[in-house]
Amino acid sequence: MKKFIFPVLAIVLLSACGGNQETAQSNSLAPNINPRFDSYKNNFIEALWKVYPTWASSQGYHKYDSILVVPDEASRAKELAFVKANLDSLKTFDINGLSDNNKTDYYMIENQLKSIEWGINELKAYEWNPADYNVSGSFAEILNGNYDSLDVRLRNFNLKMANIGAYYEAAKKNIKNPTLVHTELAIDQNLGGVSVFEKDFHEALNKVRFGEHEKQMMEANARMAVKAIKDYADWLKKLKNPTPRSFRLGKELYAKKFEYDIQSGYTAEQIYEKALARKKELHEKMFEIADKLWDKYVGKENTNIKPTDRLQLIKQVIDKISEKHVQPDSFQTAIEKQLPVLTEFIKKKDLITMDPTKPLVVRREPDYMAGVAGASISAPGPYDKNGNTYYNVGSLSGWPKDKAESYLREYNHYILQILNIHEAIPGHYTQLVYSNQSPSLIKALFGNNAMIEGWAVYTERMMLENGYDDSPEMWLMYYKWNLRSTCNTILDYSVHTKDMSQEDALNLLINEAFQQQAEAEGKWKRVSVTQVQLCCYFTGYTEIYDFREELKKQMNDKFNLKLFHEQFLSYGSAPVKYIRQLMLKEMEKCPAFKQN
Ligand code: ZN
Ligand code: ZN
Repeated sequence: MKKFIFPVLAIVLLSACGGNQETAQSNSLAPNINPRFDSYKNNFIEALWKVYPTWASSQGYHKYDSILVVPDEASRAKELAFVKANLDSLKTFDINGLSDNNKTDYYMIENQLKSIEWGINELKAYEWNPADYNVSGSFAEILNGNYDSLDVRLRNFNLKMANIGAYYEAAKKNIKNPTLVHTELAIDQNLGGVSVFEKDFHEALNKVRFGEHEKQMMEANARMAVKAIKDYADWLKKLKNPTPRSFRLGKELYAKKFEYDIQSGYTAEQIYEKALARKKELHEKMFEIADKLWDKYVGKENTNIKPTDRLQLIKQVIDKISEKHVQPDSFQTAIEKQLPVLTEFIKKKDLITMDPTKPLVVRREPDYMAGVAGASISAPGPYDKNGNTYYNVGSLSGWPKDKAESYLREYNHYILQILNIHEAIPGHYTQLVYSNQSPSLIKALFGNNAMIEGWAVYTERMMLENGYDDSPEMWLMYYKWNLRSTCNTILDYSVHTKDMSQEDALNLLINEAFQQQAEAEGKWKRVSVTQVQLCCYFTGYTEIYDFREELKKQMNDKFNLKLFHEQFLSYGSAPVKYIRQLMLKEMEKCPAFKQN
């Protein structure tokens, strides 16, 4: 089949200005710098996998499947040496001579290295987070993968088990004053994973024709693994920990972690302030709509008295609108029917070019993902070039009636469409198709989550702004949805740097973001065991939206939304701040746009 070529790669935003002069110039200064950087990147990744074999396996690189690194002082020294050697290597490249793709790769490698160094020297989660130690996930991946014969995978599994005892001994030596929530989490997760060795491995062994002697040795190794894991959980249960560390990260570490994980042009505090302002704005807009919809939805039953409390009023209208939803057995078909409608709308409004040769494959959620209903995108890993991208849709069959009803109210007629925009078109799926046009193993591995999630969240608003269902009901629901990522950011920052109590947190989520009790409690649990992660949606979205508005202002009537989208996505999953830099630089070359 003829390969579809994106016009965007040839005619960038400002094609009229003569395109790639800069690249040509720098190439004549140092003609070999890009090929040299490409080969550096290959060496870097090969070396990375030697230091992090389990990470390699999880990305589909299976050369080191049999190795389990013991997390001791020596292994941390090895990591630091790896960081130093590579930071030194990076310095030998003049970044100005690199292509745009290599420039962003350079920044992302540098950030990854510095983040590792900071993690070891400053954050020190290996001391206070016992849940950092858990082997079962990576062993389960070897059992479940189908990249090689079961014989080969089982033998690697067996070799890798040899270090489990030493692994947990090192863990015990590392741990000092752990937080209580991470200690509990570690006990639960480690015990939860024992079945991989007790049951799954045993069952897999029954499927192969190894000799009795070999099988018995392997079974004995599995028993030792089980013992080591259970011992670790026991050790944690009995650990004397009179002065446990707080799970709250504190302002200083938080700011740094935000810097490394999000790579935003804004600081954590700036994003927090923006989230507060956004929450206020959303409440005002929601009240305005809910007030007008009151009579239509709630007020018609004259027993209902219009609440004076604005948030109460909004909540009652939202609850009523949420009753419009599909039936459990048509959840999947409703999602499938949506996708062509979204594609058609994007074409009609000329919002972004969609590659017609890459239709999205919708499938029923595979069994191993079951339970997490809804919809998600499965993209092939960086080493699986021919793999399909799937849109997994969960089935609600077998769900108890009230659970299904509550779920369907959450993913009601309106939110379901926003979910499709976010996950598929023109959200995650479309972004993925574009990022595959500028293939970079570095970006596939270190892809910036804030950019990826930010894009999906940005498209929700962009679609509505362009007239995709302009009803007040849709806008109200969209605002509720947007309030979720906004409040996630407020919650994360407040809990980790401002000592927000559980009570205040639940109040924020339930009364100000209109979430269900169960959802809010789950969020509290998540915010107490993770840090920064919850900010990536709102941060990425804000950066993209702000950048677009900035460009619109500068370019006036010359601004073209479609070209903006296509150029923005052409840099791959790089942090928004670098994409912004490169796009602005591209603009500077064009005298026509300097007028403003
Ligand atoms: Zn219902
Ligand atoms: Zn997402």
